[in-house]
Amino acid sequence: AKNAGRNRLSYFTQALQESAQYRLRLINDLLGALADRQFEIHFQPIIDLASRRTVKAEALLRWNHPEHGTISPAEFIPLAEETGLIVGIGDWVFREAAGCLQRWTELAGTELQISVNMSPAQFQSDVLVIEDWLAHLRSLGVAEQRLSIEITEGLLLNAHPSVTDKLLAFRDAGIQVAIDDFGTGYSALSYLKRFDIDYLKIDQSFISNLETEPNDLALCEAIVSMAHKLGLKVIAEGVETEQQRELLKRISCDYGQGYLFSRPLPPAKFERLLQDNRGH
Ligand code: C2E
Ligand code: CA
Ligand code: CA
Ligand code: CA
Repeated sequence: AKNAGRNRLSYFTQALQESAQYRLRLINDLLGALADRQFEIHFQPIIDLASRRTVKAEALLRWNHPEHGTISPAEFIPLAEETGLIVGIGDWVFREAAGCLQRWTELAGTELQISVNMSPAQFQSDVLVIEDWLAHLRSLGVAEQRLSIEITEGLLLNAHPSVTDKLLAFRDAGIQVAIDDFGTGYSALSYLKRFDIDYLKIDQSFISNLETEPNDLALCEAIVSMAHKLGLKVIAEGVETEQQRELLKRISCDYGQGYLFSRPLPPAKFERLLQDNRGH
């Protein structure tokens, strides 16, 4: 028994070492990924539940690793955050998204909005210069209101003034702010007032059992009602079924995002969707 225990332990340490080595290799590969054009952005439509039109899209990062294939952002974003590489990568995501906003202006009947995910590390960095972002949008002729940044609640709690100043600078410039994964983080809601947030994105975990869990529906209804009273709009994440869409519409949720409408799409496919959208 003792032997078996020791064996199990050694397997465990071996697995750990392998995963530590894999991690180090991934970090090393991340260093060159941007210059080597291994990143791509996929766009997931966000639908106006009343008109059924695509009015927004979320930019989601994809890493096409030369050996390992597509690596999920859930796996590599944490590494990019730890190493500070997220700042450069986030800058690239913004520039790509801004370029698409310009290109798609003519394609979409409505003035499409794109949201990009922002890590706390980006706000903590001196390298992120908001004036540069704004100048870039201006040079493309893209209105600030068409860019939205998605942040999580954690960023706003006990944040250093240099962090909140950046957020307020985005806000003051007209860039929209969305709270991502709403409901999974902290329960203090005072920040909603303080930072004049524009959107709440209800986390998928509240949506996936909407048909069978009366408590989830009650929570969503309460969130929508509170948000509307505060002048915020609500986006439901991870909508997968027609029944969920129906329920969300019934409780006056504004927007939906999820596989029911579309998976995240590569730019060319998303463009085609926009053109079809216009035809309706
Ligand atoms: P997130 O911001 O909460 O993005 C939503 C995730 O849910 C995406 O996963 C999306 O593909 C997935 N999703 C959308 N609809 C459905 C659905 O109906 N069912 C299910 N099961 N999933 C759905 P993805 O693309 O793997 O991204 C994972 C996370 O990685 C994101 O979560 C976000 O936190 C992070 N991320 C992605 N791109 C970026 C980026 O450019 N910068 C930063 N900082 N983080 C990013
Ligand atoms: Ca997001
Ligand atoms: Ca989310
Ligand atoms: Ca507002």
